[in-house]
This record gives sequence, structure tokens and C-alpha cells, in this order.
Amino acid sequence: MAESSKTQRPHKTTHERLHEYIFGETALKANNIVPKYQKDCENDAELTLWIVDELLQSAHNYVQRLLDENKVLRRLINIKTIRVKGEEVKASWDLWTPEHAYAFACYLFLENKGTEACKQCQNCRSTGPMGGCIAGDMQYMKGACACCYYSGSGKRCSRRLTMEEEEAEKKAKKRPKFQGFTTALLKDASNEEIELWLGWVEAEMEERASARQPPSKKRRVH
Ligand SMILES: [Zn+2]
Ligand SMILES: [Zn+2]
Repeated sequence: MAESSKTQRPHKTTHERLHEYIFGETALKANNIVPKYQKDCENDAELTLWIVDELLQSAHNYVQRLLDENKVLRRLINIKTIRVKGEEVKASWDLWTPEHAYAFACYLFLENKGTEACKQCQNCRSTGPMGGCIAGDMQYMKGACACCYYSGSGKRCSRRLTMEEEEAEKKAKKRPKFQGFTTALLKDASNEEIELWLGWVEAEMEERASARQPPSKKRRVH
């Protein structure tokens, strides 16, 4: 019983599922061209296929959900080049943690919301391995870019911060301004609410009255 209530993924092989993904206008041609090992990938297209194939086998639910919801491959993977001891090398990366796998899934499949790279990516402070700054809506990585999210600094990603500010502003605008106690408000209120407010008003009046008395009387215990 418990089994059947779970959402069952259709029984398809990874290759069959890979065919459902679109790049440009063509389905990914997965047959026999997914390199078996990462080291066998000769170009970005092959590496991208290898990564998508790996992601499809990921055990993490939110990686799977993202792949189910986004069937269009937006870009090929692009691993950035960094300088180590004067030599240019590809940044190291892996898909071993859920966050790393998710960051790669987001990088490949999300529509990039915005044109400017985040401050970390612009200033090469982000240690994420992707050669581009890609971020989706708030629902993905809370609006942070894949590079920052990968490197565990999503909270400081300027794209996330900007998006959070905009959301807060939108919410503040939506909230109606409190008009004060109006007769309409009183008519709508329950007896309990009115009694509660009355209590507050009385307490406030008492406090004000005692504040007006000379200091000697103020401290008197009744
Ligand atoms: Zn970035
Ligand atoms: Zn960022």
C-alpha cells in the first residue's frame, strides 16, 4: 500500500529519459554517444551529455524534480579556466554532494533570469567551477547563481540578495496600510477582540495618568 501511494517514476532507462531532453530543437541523441567515464569526454557537448546522464541517476529528489520540470537543456557545460601557479587549468569539480549535483542541474537547465553576473562571479571571488553566472527564480537556489550555490556561498550571491530585496518591496506594497480604529473595523470585530482592545486602551490611559502625577505619588503602592 505504502509503495503504491508514492509517485511512481515510469520505468524508463536513463537513455530513454535522456531522449526526452531537448537541446536547440533536437532531442539529445543519447544512443552510444554518452561517454562512459568523465575522462573520456572530448568536448563540452560530450561532457554535458555525461553530466545529464549522471544527474538522471541521482538519488536526490530535488535534482530529479528539477529535471522533470525542465526538459530543455539551455546551454552546454562550460568549466572555467583558472590560474594555478601561473598555469591555466580547468577548475576542479564533482557531482558528489546533493548541492553540487543540483548546482550543475540548475546551470544546464534553468533559464537565466537577468543579464548581469553576480558580484562574486564578476570579481572571480566565486569558487564555483562554471564559466558563467546562471540563476533562475527564487524557487531554485533561492535566486543565487549556480557558481555561488555550488561553493556554498549562495547566501552572499548578489543576485540572490537583489531578488530578496525586490520580493520584500513587492510584499510591502501589497500589504494594506493600517487605517487606525475605524467604525467599520469595530463592526467587523468580534466581542473578544473589542474587549481585548478596550483592555489595551484602558492600560494605556492609566499609564498616561500615572506619568502625569508628581514623582512622589508615582511609586505609591496601591
Ligand atoms: Zn554568479
Ligand atoms: Zn553568485
